[in-house]
Amino acid sequence: MSEPIRITRATVKKQKPKDSELTFGTVFTDHMFVMNFQEEKGWYDPRVEPYGPLSMDPAAAVLHYAQAVFDGLKAFRGRDGRVRLFRPQKHVDRLIQSSNRLCIPPLDPELALRSLVTLVGLEKDWVPSTVGTSLYVRPTIVANEAFLGVRPAKSYIYYVILSPVGAYYPEGMNPVKILVVDKYVRAVEGGVGSAKTGVNYAASLFAAEEAKHAGFTQVLWLDGRERKYVDEVGTMNIMLKIGDEIVTPPLSGTILAGVTRDSALTLMREWGLRVAERPIAIDEVAAAARRGTLEEVWGTGTAAVISPVGELAYKGERLVINEGKIGKLTRKLYDAIVGIQYGTAPDPHGWTVPV
Ligand SMILES: *Cc1c(COP(=O)(O)O)cnc(C)c1O
Repeated sequence: MSEPIRITRATVKKQKPKDSELTFGTVFTDHMFVMNFQEEKGWYDPRVEPYGPLSMDPAAAVLHYAQAVFDGLKAFRGRDGRVRLFRPQKHVDRLIQSSNRLCIPPLDPELALRSLVTLVGLEKDWVPSTVGTSLYVRPTIVANEAFLGVRPAKSYIYYVILSPVGAYYPEGMNPVKILVVDKYVRAVEGGVGSAKTGVNYAASLFAAEEAKHAGFTQVLWLDGRERKYVDEVGTMNIMLKIGDEIVTPPLSGTILAGVTRDSALTLMREWGLRVAERPIAIDEVAAAARRGTLEEVWGTGTAAVISPVGELAYKGERLVINEGKIGKLTRKLYDAIVGIQYGTAPDPHGWTVPV
């Protein structure tokens, strides 16, 4: 039996920004989804209510020990006017996996999916229509028990907020410069690198700031043990085309299992390309660049879909990729995924869920 979602509508509606004025994550819609958890009751009272501040005790566990997880996905308005979520089940599954790692009680996947579809359905008018724009969906779970001891909390809030976001590449895709860091690490084996949890982001800020001050857009993380193997790029998964092989690090526990990563791998395998999920030493990457066989490098993630990398800086050496221009496969992947998201290309895998 599926639990009903209670709906309380906002009496005052916000003014919606113009598509051309959209940025990322600054404007939120009129409503949010909320559900509570208490040890005795389990998850209860799923509801949609007007968007607004959460009330929380200053002793709430999340504010001290960071017991929290989140996910991020998008809804797109197709050229046909219909709104589609991209692979929401996969994001729900990942939110539950992240929860498990952080000792957060799992959501019912059916209800979690329904929370996304219901909320986006109610806020359909907020989904912008210009190509490249979308409605960003942010499900989050935080521990809100007022208790300063260190153990899993006994109460939680699950909530979902929505933000209309602008085109990631309003001026076209420009390959970015990335600094390979060997001074800091993002995650280690056995840690929480494969969970989508805020602490991974907090841990990444210092290195990212240093890289920005040095003129780079983001950092490329190496493995935490030997600082020898490629892990992720910023908050994206990384893929490299070396000769005719496409390589990406395996899901060995330190990197996030990106939904865009999975989508890109699926498409490339269908296209008959040679794709390997294997450890990639940064020295192998540098050697390929020197030899001229490092043909393309790109990041994958919900925000940008595909983000071309034009240059990697490692130990003072500049490794320029494809003369700093966007590669053919990078472009093809971007177009293929975006086509499915906006409903301009067939969706043979059933990745999109109409709202
Ligand atoms: C969210 C995230 C990604 C990308 O995952 P998608 O599902 O493709 O959006 C990659 N790496 C990290 C660290 C992330 O947090």
